[in-house]
Amino acid sequence: HADIAMYRAKKLGRNNFQFYTPAMNEEALERVRIESALRNALERDEFVLHYQPQVELASGQIVGMEALIRWQHPELGMVPPVRFIGVAEDTGLIVPIGAWVLRTACAQNKAWLDAGLGRLRVAVNLSARQFAAPNLIAQIEAVLADTGLPPACLDIELTESLFMDDITVAVELLHSMKALGVSMSIDDFGTGYSSLSYLSRFPIDVLKIDRSFVSAINRDANDAALVSSIIALAHNLKLSVIAEGVETAEQLAYLRGHGCDEMQGYFFSKPVPAAEFEQMLRQRRRLDIAEPEDAITAS
Ligand code: C2E
Ligand code: MG
Ligand code: MG
Ligand code: MG
Repeated sequence: HADIAMYRAKKLGRNNFQFYTPAMNEEALERVRIESALRNALERDEFVLHYQPQVELASGQIVGMEALIRWQHPELGMVPPVRFIGVAEDTGLIVPIGAWVLRTACAQNKAWLDAGLGRLRVAVNLSARQFAAPNLIAQIEAVLADTGLPPACLDIELTESLFMDDITVAVELLHSMKALGVSMSIDDFGTGYSSLSYLSRFPIDVLKIDRSFVSAINRDANDAALVSSIIALAHNLKLSVIAEGVETAEQLAYLRGHGCDEMQGYFFSKPVPAAEFEQMLRQRRRLDIAEPEDAITAS
């Protein structure tokens, strides 16, 4: 198909150059479809947040949750973030969408706090566009004031890629954010290209070990060694560690054995709608942390 398309394109001449494979065509179409649907999604109230519990390994208790956006489109169905966050970034739509996420997550957490369901920390993912927006600090401050959520109950998740452009500007921005009283995490830690030196310069609180390392714990001794080294590194820098994507008892045991602070993953729960998360809190669902010793020696 590609050859035929190329041949046709050549025959049409330079000004009509078209080099589409059927797959590319479909991908481009899907992008256009997503982009135009995305423009109306906020006003049509099509987004929803799901919450995934973060569990403290020492106590087995839910101490926080990550807010993860979901898009329910009437024709496209449930569109996962991987299919629209990139488009939202490219078009700038992520800025109003991200603002909605921040406000909704904070308001929800305040409602649970007021309902006596615990003093939890809600983690919100921040995109590069939001990070670059000049009013970011004022926006976070306004959301905290409007919702009444204590700043310490909000965690901002950042990725290493956000710091690549201008490290001095990033350091300044993070200090302003820190001054608001919120906590900050590095998401997907270990997958970026940045040097380790920023870790000691940035006022961050948490490292989230990327799922790809966690999933390899029992498959690959080197990956397991990476995980335990990241935990040690974090603790030496007085940071706490959350392991992402924990799916098995073996992974959990390894993480506990190496002093990891918190876990997040399907082993405890997938991200769930707010009502379901509230049920977990009401039932005081906790992680069953039995017999770690055996599993540690087994892995
Ligand atoms: P992330 O921030 O690293 O979020 C964790 C992702 O891992 C979530 O995917 C979650 O459902 C998934 N996950 C958690 N535990 C497990 C597990 O045990 N096994 C497996 N296989 N997966 C697990 P999700 O919700 O599809 O989100 C994907 C990414 O989309 C997020 O990665 C984040 O980068 C982005 N994203 C989601 N919501 C938002 C948002 O509100 N704003 C922005 N800017 N990005 C968001
Ligand atoms: Mg995240
Ligand atoms: Mg992550
Ligand atoms: Mg991510």
